Amino acid sequence: MIQEFGPEHVFDNHFAPHEPAAGDYLLHYTDAGCLARVCHVGRSDADAGDSGEVVELPRLADYPRRPSRVTYLFSLGEERFFLALDDRVAAPAGFAYESVNWLRRAEPQHLLFAAATGSQLDRWYRANRFCGRCGAPTELAPASREIVCPECAHIVYPKICPGIICAVTSCDGGDEKIVLTRYAGRTTALWALVAGFTEIGEPLEDTVRREVMEEVGLSVKNLRFYKSQPWSFTDTLLVGFWCEVDGDPTIAVDRSELKEARWFSRDEIPLERTGDRASLTGEMIERFRLMGRRAWE
Ligand SMILES: [Zn+2]
Repeated sequence: MIQEFGPEHVFDNHFAPHEPAAGDYLLHYTDAGCLARVCHVGRSDADAGDSGEVVELPRLADYPRRPSRVTYLFSLGEERFFLALDDRVAAPAGFAYESVNWLRRAEPQHLLFAAATGSQLDRWYRANRFCGRCGAPTELAPASREIVCPECAHIVYPKICPGIICAVTSCDGGDEKIVLTRYAGRTTALWALVAGFTEIGEPLEDTVRREVMEEVGLSVKNLRFYKSQPWSFTDTLLVGFWCEVDGDPTIAVDRSELKEARWFSRDEIPLERTGDRASLTGEMIERFRLMGRRAWE
């Protein structure tokens, strides 16, 4: 998954005030995406992803002029990452703004994770320049990852929205099946699992039951937590569950949200997710295809 890479890049998001050195990464985002340099190296390069693309992110020394507002983000092993909060910067030669979602196809994985996680923090900083309670300009807390209001002392923490991914399964007469869905109105309509955001006041288990009923009209039982995954593209923490259909397995698709949903036997599951190394959805679908009910036992 996107947060899984080698032990040489352990994620440390403890916030402490640091000044960037010339060799530290310094990220900058606009509505167009993240400053990055993408090299097309072809499929024969061992470092390249399936797309054959290798991404590099800018370091402080790459910028012709030092951005004026810089804050520390996090470290991945020995590599430190900073964020330029300026609206505009003098872009380093050879770098351009690339869609963070598009970078999902590229390698190495730890830089993809850094670009995605940095984008979540960048959105948070930019969305909270003024206090949501009193309207005064906010400030960054000096020694913690908090945005504070000097007028009314309101504190804002990074935005993380919990949501669920749910693999609905059945084992009718020994035929192991899973419900896959496809969203309407998306350009990348891969088969996926039932998913949705947690509502205020709702435990995760109820999110699973509600989303499955809303999207495909099924009751479920035997919920089992599998893994969770930060999904910074949508400010989300995704929580993955396995569950089994309870009673009538007839799917009633929510046409307003989904284009299609149906049961797949293991040997019918499309292979389009086999190379998906980033998402929990891809891992769960592939795991069920290979292991069936042993996926959670
Ligand atoms: Zn305030």
